[in-house]
Amino acid sequence: MDYIDSILKKVESRDGHEKEFMQAMKEVLKSLEPVIAKHPEYQENGILERLVEPERQIIFRVPWVNDKGKVMVNRGYRVQYNSAMGPYKGGLRLHPSVNLGIIKFLGFEQIFKNALTGLPIGGGKGGSDFDPKGKSNNEIMRFCQSFMNELYRHIGLNTDVPAGDIGVGGREIGYLFGQYKKIKNSYDTGILTGKGLEYWGSLVRKEATGYGLVYFMEEMLQEHDSAFEGKTVVISGSGNVAIYAHEKATQLGAKVIAMSDSSGYIVDKNGINLDTIKKLKEVERRRIKDYLEFHKDAEFHEGFQGIWDVKCDIALPCATQNEIALEQAKKMVENGVIAVGEGANMPCLDEAVEYFLANKVLLGPGKAANAGGVATSALEMSQNSMRLAWTFEEVDKKLHEIMKNIFKEAKKAARDYGVPGNYVVGANIAGFKKVANAMLV
Ligand code: GLU
Repeated sequence: MDYIDSILKKVESRDGHEKEFMQAMKEVLKSLEPVIAKHPEYQENGILERLVEPERQIIFRVPWVNDKGKVMVNRGYRVQYNSAMGPYKGGLRLHPSVNLGIIKFLGFEQIFKNALTGLPIGGGKGGSDFDPKGKSNNEIMRFCQSFMNELYRHIGLNTDVPAGDIGVGGREIGYLFGQYKKIKNSYDTGILTGKGLEYWGSLVRKEATGYGLVYFMEEMLQEHDSAFEGKTVVISGSGNVAIYAHEKATQLGAKVIAMSDSSGYIVDKNGINLDTIKKLKEVERRRIKDYLEFHKDAEFHEGFQGIWDVKCDIALPCATQNEIALEQAKKMVENGVIAVGEGANMPCLDEAVEYFLANKVLLGPGKAANAGGVATSALEMSQNSMRLAWTFEEVDKKLHEIMKNIFKEAKKAARDYGVPGNYVVGANIAGFKKVANAMLV
């Protein structure tokens, strides 16, 4: 479609150097061609022209003092992408790979993901190129406090509500919240989500992305007369998303046989022991290869992409973007994979996505399948606004309903637009229409 190509060309001329942003933009816009053709009002009102440009992009200096007393400087970002459906909402990522293009791609994806949750949240994302790996607790604290010294002026209960992403968990949110409270002298409980339970975080938030991913995949498998029961599962990553995807998949009768971190992956044919992983990763912050100290039969392999050579029925990439290229996808199909669920944001390159779909592999796209985390963040905001706390069962039930509903909407949109079973296009269309309609009125 000429109209979409002309928009992409314009974005390319401005932001062509932002590889991941261009990738996400192209993938979404291309899938919207039939929607634009059917709804001239979107084109007439310049919806796409508006969507390709974030509402606001903030870049700031983050100076902090390391344990040797030396001043270090990192770059901080907050991209407030779209507020048509509510305050900007999205995580903060701390990783050396972070740059403006990565934060923009994540913010862009977040708009549609958040819309799919059916809760009143807009899309945003932030972070820094600060590398938390190898840093002491005090260094992490000083970095977070300095980050908030600038961030506080851009966020607000009805403006922008950050949360965690890679490198930001309960500990970091705690330091950020403490600093915000100190600067503002105000207990704005819902200013951040993913908080500790002691200061009004939500039960299930920690588990939510992983549980939600499995709930979504369960619906998808059921639709195609399959289930987790008795299946082998490979999960990349060993952070929050991966750990709780393991927990829920195991509860549903599957066996998780491989997990990874940035140094490599482990394979345990007996099923990876989740208590060991939790102890290593959540408590002691160690490397995944240390798993072998406790389980002598397991294997460790260097390099994280090799995990996709491990034969399995269901693959859940829960590490980071672009970890499954065409080469990995081919190997997975050859090994008989039946379903892939994106726990991470954009873990599969476009060629891999196309290859999976062409080979009838069920694909749960990130913006639908991993929406459980941000959905539960929105439930945390609700509880904070009401000044009460729901039980684990209450939140889990709501999360489950939300994920079922997201699947239903992606399925319906795929059918309505003549691509039944293509949940990638279905999720893009369902999320986009909600945002576009909110932007029209
Ligand atoms: N970082 C998560 C995501 O990619 C959660 C964001 C949130 O809870 O605001 O959706």
